[in-house]
Amino acid sequence: MTDFADSAISTLLREEGFACGCGRRHRTDLRVLRIGSGVINILPEALMSLGVKRPFVVCDANTYEAAGRRVSTILDDAGIPYTLYVFPPQSQKMEPDESAVGALAMAYDPASDAVLGVGSGVINDCCKVLARTAGVPSLVVGTAPSMDGYASDSSSMVQNRLKVTLYNACPQAVVCDTDIMSAAPMEMLLAGLGDMLAKYVAICEWRISHIVTGEYYCENIARLMRRSLRRCVDAAEGLIRREPDAVEAVAEGLVLSGIAMGFAKISRPASGLEHYFSHMWEMMALERGEPSDLHGAQCGVGTLLTIKLLERLRTLTPDPARAAAFAASFDIPAWRERTRGIFGRTADAVIAMERDVGHQNDPALRAERFERIVDNWPAILAIMDEELPRADDLAAMMRGLGMPVTPVGLGIGAEDTRRAYIGSRVIRDKYLTSTLIWDLGLEREFEQLAGELAV
Ligand SMILES: [Zn+2]
Ligand SMILES: [Zn+2]
Repeated sequence: MTDFADSAISTLLREEGFACGCGRRHRTDLRVLRIGSGVINILPEALMSLGVKRPFVVCDANTYEAAGRRVSTILDDAGIPYTLYVFPPQSQKMEPDESAVGALAMAYDPASDAVLGVGSGVINDCCKVLARTAGVPSLVVGTAPSMDGYASDSSSMVQNRLKVTLYNACPQAVVCDTDIMSAAPMEMLLAGLGDMLAKYVAICEWRISHIVTGEYYCENIARLMRRSLRRCVDAAEGLIRREPDAVEAVAEGLVLSGIAMGFAKISRPASGLEHYFSHMWEMMALERGEPSDLHGAQCGVGTLLTIKLLERLRTLTPDPARAAAFAASFDIPAWRERTRGIFGRTADAVIAMERDVGHQNDPALRAERFERIVDNWPAILAIMDEELPRADDLAAMMRGLGMPVTPVGLGIGAEDTRRAYIGSRVIRDKYLTSTLIWDLGLEREFEQLAGELAV
């Protein structure tokens, strides 16, 4: 048995993976990972080690300037043929949707044997989808440490103007040159930190769910994420000075999040209620045809909001009479109506998901969960103590760095935050803080509180 939680990130890639104390073997499909100053120069070597002879290189106008031109030169100098596609400049923020993937498919050179994305969130997401469609591996040169999808096996896409997760394959190579990344816009660097802060809530909720629902949990993976998160928080001051070590810590944490999700085969190590706030806000913006803020910026705000909700929750004691009264008053047709009001045209999919997969509304299952919550309440409080920083301390740090700290700071109002809170419980089948609160019969008080905390 190998303890991988204290290993260097490069050790985590080994082909045979790790037999873990949790009973599973953890491995990632990521084969080449380089993070550091000047590492873009290893690109020819990385391509050779993966047997890639002719990549299809994808940039947008900004990432071409940041790194794409450099990639072209390096490939030219190494005598590696490639086809370059640069997305034309957009008037609005580019969405990872049919139009973007369609543009790539139409420009794709079928002689290519890999897709090499040069960019961050949207480019990486679209390239993974294209690579799956074309049946070739994907590789990525990161341009900003802004989100945790670099090494994940899924793409966060927009399909029919709805937010969906498409599972494809994790990139085979991730190259993050900190000389390039440290020059990214400051809001992108801070968004990356925001996406890392999410791990406080993610690990806390994962442990609580393990107790309440019996969901699989791996302490070694959790340790891996905690250690990386601590490094990012320690580096936060350096990040605003664009110090290479700080940029490296955040880039590494974001890549590690993808590896950890691959290890666990679920998104638990990296995402909790804060990500669901972000998904809900993004879906609302899509519904209205408005652009959203950066994913990581929303996750940072969602983290602080979730910790505030948990701080209120921990002052209460589970009350069987109250939970029973709330359960008795819960009415499925009324819930469906409310869900329609929140989700609009995605409501049918959400209602079907709850009925077929989530089963959270099932009275018997809910009663069982309530029992376990009551029996384990001291342990649940201890998990919150162990995993979470104080909201005031976190807010002070974020404010000091110039990060947004409230939904209103992101241009999102109290009503949308209240609705996002309600929707979070049923948008997927994940047990979250909002599910725990619902099980305790406290949803109405806390949806109110979520709205009040938006300001
Ligand atoms: Zn494990
Ligand atoms: Zn994220």
